[in-house]
Amino acid sequence: MMNKIKSEKRLCLICMEEHEVDTVEVMETEFFKDEEVSFTATYEYCSNADEYLETEEMIKANSLAMKDSYREKVGLLTSGEIIEIRKKYDVSQKDFSEILDWGRAIITRYENHQVQDRAHDDVLRKSDYDPKWFLEMLKRAKERISNKAFVKYYHEASE
Ligand SMILES: [Zn+2]
Repeated sequence: MMNKIKSEKRLCLICMEEHEVDTVEVMETEFFKDEEVSFTATYEYCSNADEYLETEEMIKANSLAMKDSYREKVGLLTSGEIIEIRKKYDVSQKDFSEILDWGRAIITRYENHQVQDRAHDDVLRKSDYDPKWFLEMLKRAKERISNKAFVKYYHEASE
């Protein structure tokens, strides 16, 4: 089943002619880490050739949708939920990683393409429901983040 969400007249990269190129949503099922997961994938569709194309952006988004479906299925936070926790403290991706003592790039990966392990998932949940603990972690990371950011986060987490 395919659901058309957009149609635009332009050069079609599948048949290399100019025509109405559709953007469509398709329900897909894949196996990820031994789990069968269903998710909505987005493609460009050429009705001339009856073929689908994934742009660079769609490849990333479709992979994230698949992994988020997996996370929901096994009870891990989705990328969106991780973003919400970070936004709650108004912390940057890099600094959130530093505060949790994971190195600079981990949160960016979790929000974009990598599924977190259970231990890290627990830490993320703890930082969500326990602002006092988050404050302690923040104090420990004081040397690793800018003073200006520290003051801002401290204020945010204290509220
Ligand atoms: Zn075409």
